[in-house]
Amino acid sequence: MHVSQTFIPTRREVPADAVIASHRLMFRAGMIRKLANGLFAYLPLGLRAFRKVEQIIREEMDAIGALELKPPVMAPGEIWKESGRWEAMGDAMLRAQNRAGADLVVSPTAEEAFTALVRDELSSYRQLPLLLYQINTKYRDELRPRYGVMRGREFVMKDAYSYHAGEAGLDETYQAMGRAYRRIFKRCGLSVIPVRADSGAMGGSGSEEFMVESVIGDNTLILCNACDYAANVEKAACRPDHPDPAALLPLEPIDTPGVKTIEELCVFLQTTAKDCIKTLIYRVRQAELDLSGAPGCAGLLRRKNAPDAPEVYPEVFVAALIRGDLDINEAKLAGVLKAPEIALAADVDVVRLTGAPVGFAGPVGLRSLPVIADESVSAMTCAVTGALAADRHYRHTAYGRDFSPWMLTDLRTVRAKDRCPVCGGELYEKKGNELGHIFKLGYKYTRSMGVHFLDENGKARVPVMGSYGIGVDRALASVIEEHHDERGIIWPLAVAPYQAVIVPIKYTGPVKATADRLTVELEAQGVETLLDDRDERPGVKFNDADLIGIPYRIVVGDKNLSGGVPKVEFKHRKDTGSQLLEVPKAAETIAGLLRGELTQLRREYT
Ligand SMILES: [Zn+2]
Repeated sequence: MHVSQTFIPTRREVPADAVIASHRLMFRAGMIRKLANGLFAYLPLGLRAFRKVEQIIREEMDAIGALELKPPVMAPGEIWKESGRWEAMGDAMLRAQNRAGADLVVSPTAEEAFTALVRDELSSYRQLPLLLYQINTKYRDELRPRYGVMRGREFVMKDAYSYHAGEAGLDETYQAMGRAYRRIFKRCGLSVIPVRADSGAMGGSGSEEFMVESVIGDNTLILCNACDYAANVEKAACRPDHPDPAALLPLEPIDTPGVKTIEELCVFLQTTAKDCIKTLIYRVRQAELDLSGAPGCAGLLRRKNAPDAPEVYPEVFVAALIRGDLDINEAKLAGVLKAPEIALAADVDVVRLTGAPVGFAGPVGLRSLPVIADESVSAMTCAVTGALAADRHYRHTAYGRDFSPWMLTDLRTVRAKDRCPVCGGELYEKKGNELGHIFKLGYKYTRSMGVHFLDENGKARVPVMGSYGIGVDRALASVIEEHHDERGIIWPLAVAPYQAVIVPIKYTGPVKATADRLTVELEAQGVETLLDDRDERPGVKFNDADLIGIPYRIVVGDKNLSGGVPKVEFKHRKDTGSQLLEVPKAAETIAGLLRGELTQLRREYT
């Protein structure tokens, strides 16, 4: 391909909002242009790289037997109402009405669409498992789209959904998908950190996120400096660090006028946060956890919309306890309660439930709601807590003697310097961006949308479901984040928009003839080649070649063509040194090198 015949508008300047390398370089290399906030057009060079990433994903999906579909981007609002997400998605979902007044959704994800398709076709266990995927456009009305295609409003995702007769089949597909994801990222040249993700509250029993390290990442990862433990902070655990038990002293009420926060308490009582119990009251909606027998929960159980959906508690309150120097991890608490949504209770509810103003809640004598304690509390034998009365606290509170929680579990937010739960090493934090997520979804959609099949005994059953996503734009941008220098992109061969670029010093005479000949020969050998035939100074062409990052560069100049066998200069974008190749053998040598490197890569990832 001749540069003069394609459309690669390179630029020197950078848009003011391009704060990360991939955004800057994709703009400068003429790969993308912004059409509106969060909406990008891929230009020819960008689209070539995009298609390479897409193709790698497609090959690996096909290799594990996944079947590609092409559902519409617009989905009927009806199926989103069935799943219960019409409301839950809020303003992130773009809605429209057609001329007949029917609700439509610009798909932000496709659990509903795939499940609706499967529901209409599924009748027998013999059709299962089903593993389906699409590589398709999505739209999420992000409040603040940023970082180029890394967080755009319109984007392309590969999303796969699997349907199984039982958990064992789901587990098999989930494992195969995890291996496929590792191969995909490896082939793209991406160093990913697989982390145990928060599977949320929706009955998922397995979930893994594939993260890349990124300063602008919106996930906090907890990693171990001694082993490969890696977890999203929402799910991260740590070893307990209980202090030695203190001597038991009689429970003692003390007047604490106007003292409400842990900090004020520490000053007032000359104590440390480690010796206080923090009590927080939460409002919990749609909890699926069995709370029968828990204080304050009798008679609240209701069945969710669909006939065989599980029973839930529309709204309950719980008290969460944790050592004063630690923080409650609300994702963990929501997970324990199997609730999609929890929030701190309003002051009026706190007063009603604790019988005291806000700031004086405590577990001693608290019987109006279930008390859920973090494990840190179980080692506390001489603690300060609220006394359920205005301006009153207890000291010398002992776990097990003065109170016993309804449930003791892990609710702690893990931080850097806590101890690894696996090996005891020191944990540290990193910011990460999610590139992919595999997730055992369970029965959430198949149940709410009424999917059934007949099992071997002719009994109607609900299939179990998995979901598996990769953001294609984000993966491409992440390749550039990982592979660039101050001069431009350094494409890994497998995703490079072109594999070789020929730079004639001056596109005339014997130089032109040689450059043309090499282009024809390389393309005949299957090397995707760009010939810079522009009438520009060599410096401009070299700068552009470095900027757009084509892995192999061949420079054709008068100097090396005259005297003896004509030669050209050959150089890897990633290396500083170059070598001379004899023109008659150059194309074959370069094609051989390319095949070798691609084969090597294939060997590494399989
Ligand atoms: Zn460790």
